[in-house]
Amino acid sequence: MAKRALITGVSGQDGAWLARSLLAKGYEVHGAARRSSQGRGWRLSELGIEDAITFHDLDLLEFSNIARTIQSVEPDEVYNLAAQSYVATSFEQPIFTSDVDGLGAVRILEAMRLFAPEGRYYQASTSEMFGKVHAPVQDESTPFYPRSPYGASKLYAHWMTVNYRESYGMFTASGILFNHESELRGPEFVTRKITMGLARIAAGGQQELRLGNLSARRDWGYAREYVEGMWMMLQAPEPDDYVLATGQTHSIREFAEACGRAAGLHIEWEGEGLDEVGRDPDSGKVIIRVDPAFFRPAEVDVLKGDASKAAKALGWTPRTDLEGLARIMMEADLRRENLALRTTT
Ligand code: NDP
Ligand code: GDP
Repeated sequence: MAKRALITGVSGQDGAWLARSLLAKGYEVHGAARRSSQGRGWRLSELGIEDAITFHDLDLLEFSNIARTIQSVEPDEVYNLAAQSYVATSFEQPIFTSDVDGLGAVRILEAMRLFAPEGRYYQASTSEMFGKVHAPVQDESTPFYPRSPYGASKLYAHWMTVNYRESYGMFTASGILFNHESELRGPEFVTRKITMGLARIAAGGQQELRLGNLSARRDWGYAREYVEGMWMMLQAPEPDDYVLATGQTHSIREFAEACGRAAGLHIEWEGEGLDEVGRDPDSGKVIIRVDPAFFRPAEVDVLKGDASKAAKALGWTPRTDLEGLARIMMEADLRRENLALRTTT
């Protein structure tokens, strides 16, 4: 009999990729999503898998619909990917974020304890829990120090995931995933904001791109590879916590330069602080400006992960580097503007 998986946040970036992957593996996929007048979302229709998923109206704020869904689906695997996932918004909506990202996980864990105790649970934890990092390279043993309501809420959910494993013997795994991006990334995140902006600039529909802290560094991987890691964690003989990361760290400037190369735009940096700009020397035009509106009350300056535990125990390794990721994302956004890749050297 086909395995049954329930994915919360199925309309998000990771939910869409994971749903596609599980369908290809022969799973019966149940997607939990908030009711919306916008339909099931652009990602599932872009992947063409909307009709293959059984949908359930579910909000992580409401225990009763979570309990009902878990009771009726009796899932073998639950992937809790739903979240208010944008760090900047978590400073504006700290209570909502804590409720969805922190208590939301406990609502699912409690429903599983009652109605599907044999089911396996995946918690979407995050490198934002390392925040003000205590080690130059972060792994499962690095102390946590979250720097945002998002990071703090996710840390609570992480510990509750561990707690349900230890208290009730449930199979609960926490994947501490470093930033992972793709052509399905939300437009508010910096990578997609850059690829969309540069595609529009290349198409002549936009003049400039305004960004915040250009010096922040992230360990960016490709989301399609990371959802495979989530699945591997639930196939392991024992539940555990794993970091997924590339082990490389790059600044926002470096990501923008790599995207520029794929879009046929050179970017040279001039000036400092708020006056820094990225100029295309070929046209002489300023493409990127710094805008303090995109700075955060507290910043995570640098993240760099060590995924060797996942490599050893699960056989998971990342394959896409920064240049490859920039090309994949640029190509998709140029295509959306009816343009093709125009690689420069
Ligand atoms: P997205 O923001 O793309 O997707 C989040 C999903 O959660 C959306 O489908 C959204 O639905 C849903 N959602 C939000 N609030 C609720 C709610 N109250 N009830 C039900 N559903 C809700 O995130 P990603 O796919 O990028 O990330 C997946 C998970 O992994 C998230 O938990 C994120 O925090 C975590 N994570 C992501 C990383 C990354 O780099 N992508 C890194 C580490 C962790 P709607 O469409 O209705 O808004
Ligand atoms: P995060 O790591 O989950 O916060 O992912 P984001 O893509 O939102 O942000 C990554 C880094 O890019 C953070 O350090 C931001 O401060 C930085 N950044 C710089 N400019 C921008 C911007 O215009 N938008 C966003 N979202 N982030 C920016």
